Amino acid sequence: MPDAEPTALQPAALAGSIRTWAAELGFSACGIAGTELAQDEARLIRWLQAGHQGEMGFMGRHGRKRARPRQLVPGTRTVVVVRMDYTPDRAADPRAVLEARQRAFITRYSLGRDYHKLMRRRLQRLAERIQSTIGPFGYRAFVDSAPVLERALAREAGLGWIGKNTMLLNRHAGSYFFLGELFTDLPLPTDDPVRAHCGSCRRCLRACPTNAFTGPYQLDARRCISYLTIEHPGSIPEPLRPAMGNRIFGCDDCQLVCPWNRYTHPTAEDDFQPRHGLDDADLVALFNWDEATFLERTAGSAIRRIGHERWLRNLAVALGNTAPTPEVVEALGQRLNHPSALVREHVRWALARHGTPRGTD
Ligand code: SF4
Repeated sequence: MPDAEPTALQPAALAGSIRTWAAELGFSACGIAGTELAQDEARLIRWLQAGHQGEMGFMGRHGRKRARPRQLVPGTRTVVVVRMDYTPDRAADPRAVLEARQRAFITRYSLGRDYHKLMRRRLQRLAERIQSTIGPFGYRAFVDSAPVLERALAREAGLGWIGKNTMLLNRHAGSYFFLGELFTDLPLPTDDPVRAHCGSCRRCLRACPTNAFTGPYQLDARRCISYLTIEHPGSIPEPLRPAMGNRIFGCDDCQLVCPWNRYTHPTAEDDFQPRHGLDDADLVALFNWDEATFLERTAGSAIRRIGHERWLRNLAVALGNTAPTPEVVEALGQRLNHPSALVREHVRWALARHGTPRGTD
């Protein structure tokens, strides 16, 4: 980063202006963090050593840089952290979808357009707004695009506390929001971290369908349905499949039960409203999508990155967990000869759950 030019505003006044500009750009909250994350680094190292990251090799690849903003972007002095709420107010009730086993549950954050581009563009505009006032300064904008401990930074920026479910929680906004970061070389005053408010509650730990929490604040990603349906490339471990129910892309259970999510705000962004009826779609209808349809209906969505093969894998598990109607059995049967061995194996598992011969490979 180049050194920041002397600013026309005092740091405190600039920090206040940054908050105002962030709000004008549609961010729901904005705070400023320092770069000290030593405790989070120790926790990250323990988590990696336990192998709880599964096949998310990228979690370990950047070593300690993830917890050291100054190493990731030399010259960083403060991090502006922004929050954007994503709860779509035009989506079906998630609990009703989870209970209707013939419907497909998709995590609420990916029902609309992918958030990465939108948030990065807004962060860029925030940086430009700062620049237009103080002149050139050093910055980098991140939205899941670099090894950044974003929840720890958000906590340090006063945007909430990290709950027992490992999500960032805010007393006035719950946990349904995205985070983005602007690493800067500006000597801004930092915010105070907020006190944790989980208290004696353990609802999220009990609610996890696959028992992915090894304790408060500890998630074994290898058992987490979000990991299994999105990040995991191969066969889903059979013992976990029945507990996945109809969750075909992600899982919100540890957030749905959290009492703080009573205070969630609906999103102000049209882009986050559901597209193609994905908030309450029929499992069989989605399973019948060919690859061209999958690519067309998930264009611009975070779902697209798992590809058609994992999409079918996840849906086969959900169909194995639903009622064995003739329509379900027929749809599964039509995929028995799918070119992908991964898909065929999950289809055979689902048919066997319904007492139908597995077919041969
Ligand atoms: Fe904390 Fe309870 Fe929410 Fe879990 S459900 S994150 S323990 S408040």
